[in-house]
Amino acid sequence: MTEQEYIQARRSEPWRDELRRNMKAKERSDRTRVHMPELDAEYRSHSLKEEVNLGLSEEQALFEAARCLDCANPTCMEGCPVSINIPTFIKNIERGEFLEAAKVLKETSALPAVCGRVCPQEKQCESKCIYVQKMKKEAVAIGNLERFAADYERISGKVSLPELAPANRIKIAAVGSGPAGLSFAGDMAKRGYDVTVFEALHEIGGVLKYGIPEFRLPNEIVDVEIDVLRKMGVKFVKNCIVGKTISHEDLKEEGFKGIFAASGAGLPNFMNIPGENLIGVMSSNEFLTRVNLMDASNPESDTPVQMGKKVAIIGAGNTAMDAVRTARRLGAERAMVVYRRSEEEMPARLEEVKHAKEEGIEFMTLHNPLQYEGDANGRVQRMQLQKMELGEPDASGRRKPVPIEGAVEWIDVDEVIVSVGVSPNPLIPSSFKGLEVTKWGTIVVNQDTMQSDLPDVYAGGDIVRGGATVILAMGDGRKAAAAMDAALKK
Ligand code: FAD
Ligand code: SF4
Repeated sequence: MTEQEYIQARRSEPWRDELRRNMKAKERSDRTRVHMPELDAEYRSHSLKEEVNLGLSEEQALFEAARCLDCANPTCMEGCPVSINIPTFIKNIERGEFLEAAKVLKETSALPAVCGRVCPQEKQCESKCIYVQKMKKEAVAIGNLERFAADYERISGKVSLPELAPANRIKIAAVGSGPAGLSFAGDMAKRGYDVTVFEALHEIGGVLKYGIPEFRLPNEIVDVEIDVLRKMGVKFVKNCIVGKTISHEDLKEEGFKGIFAASGAGLPNFMNIPGENLIGVMSSNEFLTRVNLMDASNPESDTPVQMGKKVAIIGAGNTAMDAVRTARRLGAERAMVVYRRSEEEMPARLEEVKHAKEEGIEFMTLHNPLQYEGDANGRVQRMQLQKMELGEPDASGRRKPVPIEGAVEWIDVDEVIVSVGVSPNPLIPSSFKGLEVTKWGTIVVNQDTMQSDLPDVYAGGDIVRGGATVILAMGDGRKAAAAMDAALKK
């Protein structure tokens, strides 16, 4: 039965539980993966806030959920850093118990609607699905189903709260309200702790708000998940820079028995090449934060971005894709990704690259900027690129880009957005006296407990890993919560 026939059949007759339960494995595995409907590429490349992925319909979710083979040893779960009970939530969807499915997700994840949208599932749970591992087929669309269940619950207005242990009145702090801090806060609140999250910015959510654009992750979705944490008793203090506004000592004096440092890696790296200080050259962090948090796409705002028509984004990670697609939406006629390796080595999620291409983004792979030149007013006017080829694999296992001698060219640009990685925010490592820090500025922790060398300080997410992913940050938050709880109960 094709997806269309199935949807037709479901529309024309009531769904029968028995029939579905008795579906043979072959019938399940013969189905092809349901693909996420999305906005038309030309239309969306002019729309800054409308979400590109539209979500699965009920019919599509039921069809996809029934692809799951209910494996005796569900390997998919090994690929989920927050240990979502994947087969159970998918079975709930298959039975049409969508609210139950959402409850299963919330047992272990504070942000299911977020993860369903931005988690690199193809490298996590889906890469471990038996379809991929043993059958050379497309994985069950675990992420899309997760998004479906979380969205269904939100749209139904019946948002449930996870079970909470009785309050124990022990005060606990999280520093930073990104995915690591939120995940930690949720798990500690479930255990009955009195949790306060301190956030330097005027918005809660970390990169989920200031980095990832609304066309990929609407703020409203993040806010609903934050609201669940509020209802669970988590307190949020905004505009509070720990290490400046209040110190580690102040937190201890105020009675906080444990601190989870989740201050992220928001310090942009540059290439230190000539011309990087010209007007019109900026980091992707600055560009995205101004557009996402400071209304910079509005010329009437206090800090508008002067968007160029020929925009080059240097780098090819998720941040670069977000920046180039934002530039396109703000009117760039030529929006280019300049990347020193080949497409195969690009760190961005495949879906982001695909969407970017559909939106008319140009990919200049195997090119590396050497310098930028400006006009008489000091605004960037052109960039010199070095053509590269791939050599032997380097320490990262990826083939090393090597310059091709004499192969350089100049390209006209009027905006350059540098997106070549980030470094940890330095304030917590520098202001918490005695905290052990690596040469990259990340906090050293015990990998099993996330505890630092200061007994009351745990840390996780990008401040420990450098720029990584939402789900790894959340996994760290969960691990730290379990370990801090165990230590405080001793
Ligand atoms: P953050 O999300 O950075 O949150 C840290 C918070 O701490 C911030 O709100 C910061 O203001 C606050 N803070 C810092 N210092 C202090 C202080 N001293 N006192 C109080 N508060 C402080 N990952 C994916 O998995 N999928 C994606 O699609 C994806 N896309 C991305 C797109 C962009 C543009 C960027 C920048 C990153 C993307 N990532 C993606 C990476 C992912 O967002 C991060 O790995 C993740 O957010 C890290 O979480 P975190 O909680 O450690 O830190
Ligand atoms: Fe279902 Fe795939 Fe997990 Fe097996 S590995 S339980 S098929 S999602």
